[in-house]
Amino acid sequence: MSTPSPNALNTISAPAPEALAELKAALGPNGWTDDAFTMAPLLTEWRGRWTGNTPILLTPGSTEEVARAVAVCAKHGVAITPHGGGTGLVGGQIPFGEVLLSTRRLKAVRDVTPLDDAMTVEAGVTLLEAQQQAAAAGRFFPLSLAAEGTATIGGVISTNAGGTAVLRYGVMRDLVLGVEAVMPNGEIFHGLKRLRKDNTGYDLKQLLIGAEGTLGVVTAATLKLFPIMRSRAVAIVGLESAAASVELLARAKGETGGGVEAFELMKRLGTELVLKNIPDTREPLESQPAWTVLIELISGAPNGAEEAMERLLTVAFEEGLITDAAIAQNDTQRAAFWRLREEHSAALKPEGGGWKHDVSVPISRIADFIDEASAAVERFHPGARVSVFGHVGDGNLHYDILPGVGEDIPAFIGRWKEGSKVVHDIVAQYDGSISAEHGLGRLKTEEARGYKTPLEIATMQAIRKAIDPQRIMNPSVFF
Ligand SMILES: Cc1cc2nc3c(=O)[nH]c(=O)nc-3n(C[C@H](O)[C@H](O)[C@H](O)COP(=O)(O)OP(=O)(O)OC[C@H]3O[C@@H](n4cnc5c(N)ncnc54)[C@H](O)[C@@H]3O)c2cc1C
Repeated sequence: MSTPSPNALNTISAPAPEALAELKAALGPNGWTDDAFTMAPLLTEWRGRWTGNTPILLTPGSTEEVARAVAVCAKHGVAITPHGGGTGLVGGQIPFGEVLLSTRRLKAVRDVTPLDDAMTVEAGVTLLEAQQQAAAAGRFFPLSLAAEGTATIGGVISTNAGGTAVLRYGVMRDLVLGVEAVMPNGEIFHGLKRLRKDNTGYDLKQLLIGAEGTLGVVTAATLKLFPIMRSRAVAIVGLESAAASVELLARAKGETGGGVEAFELMKRLGTELVLKNIPDTREPLESQPAWTVLIELISGAPNGAEEAMERLLTVAFEEGLITDAAIAQNDTQRAAFWRLREEHSAALKPEGGGWKHDVSVPISRIADFIDEASAAVERFHPGARVSVFGHVGDGNLHYDILPGVGEDIPAFIGRWKEGSKVVHDIVAQYDGSISAEHGLGRLKTEEARGYKTPLEIATMQAIRKAIDPQRIMNPSVFF
């Protein structure tokens, strides 16, 4: 018997020797390893929160090989954890006894068809590689997040990832035209359509998106592409309050008629940690405002974005809505501004950890939520420091709580579950979500039971049972 997962909902049995032998024969010598050194990097989560174990790492090189491997697992009732880039933040990619199936060899770009504004890539292609392929064809693939050099298309589909351009282009669910996947019985779902319209009943592709590997292995996807915009403008803006950022967002949308691509809020504490812990970063605004937003505007017209940014910020400054601003003058400055935002997660790491939350609330209630949650945290753990950053345009905040200066870190971390409940209960009062974009994984599955209705849980369980009656796909994730 192998080690059960921390959130195990069922017990993971070690695969029988004949199952392992069949898997090895099905994939050949290039398609598997059980070498501890090779497997180790895939068994530890990015932040070191979990280190799992597996009897074997499968590395199939084609959809057919994935299908063969899953069929063997189905025949023997062997549990499988799919693994993409390993950047997931809720631990769903870490096996605790399951066979680990990596998509790292599924790297083909199958086609790019600019006239369809579509591109079909295999699951192991990284998000950055997909963006580059689109750009090479004169198109734009908009999903963007700090881990894009490592996160894979299979992973961003399976977690329905969000990132920084959701405001204009939507989450991954909105960016996928078709999916190919191996279902839990080993059959291949050939769903790589390029259609914009297809009203022919339940949409299996959408079930697989955000399923966190519980309904099958995504092997390829057809992605929606967009025109490359003629102009882009990036600014860092200082504000006195989070409420002012919500007002500024509304104005930016009005000024550009939908040309706001990103609108990222940062509280001063997070910016200070980036400046302290990340090399080669610089104070963006000398006034060191309590809050900053990074705004990226786009336009189809040459200079349209720059002109809209100037107008927006000039009026907002005159009216006292913003206190300071700097517009990037070149690509280097643009990248430097973005780095300040994208390094927020990494900058928390050297601080020794904290209680991290990925929540969403209605945009109009963001400021009230921050005030109410911060007051509740202060009552629960006086002196704790709150870092808030995230995607204001999506109502999605990364609401992280750090120990007070000089506090005992392990003792603070030990209060994480109770502290998170304080925050998540307020999220629920605001009709929000306790996982806006990272998913449930091992981290939040049990907690989510307290925030989903019995109807929602029962329906999810029924769908899963219909598709995976043996519950072999990522059994410790979801209900
Ligand atoms: C620095 C940093 C910044 C991040 N920023 C964001 C952000 O802004 N927005 C956001 O949404 N996320 C963000 N994330 C989280 C992470 O990048 C996403 O969850 C990403 O989608 C995971 O992709 P991956 O390939 O690494 O998947 P993995 O971590 O390998 O897997 C994630 C989950 O998907 C399943 N899975 C993976 N591949 C497949 C497949 N082919 N078929 C079926 N199931 C599969 C796994 O079993 C697991 O449950 C960030 C992570 C880091 C480290």
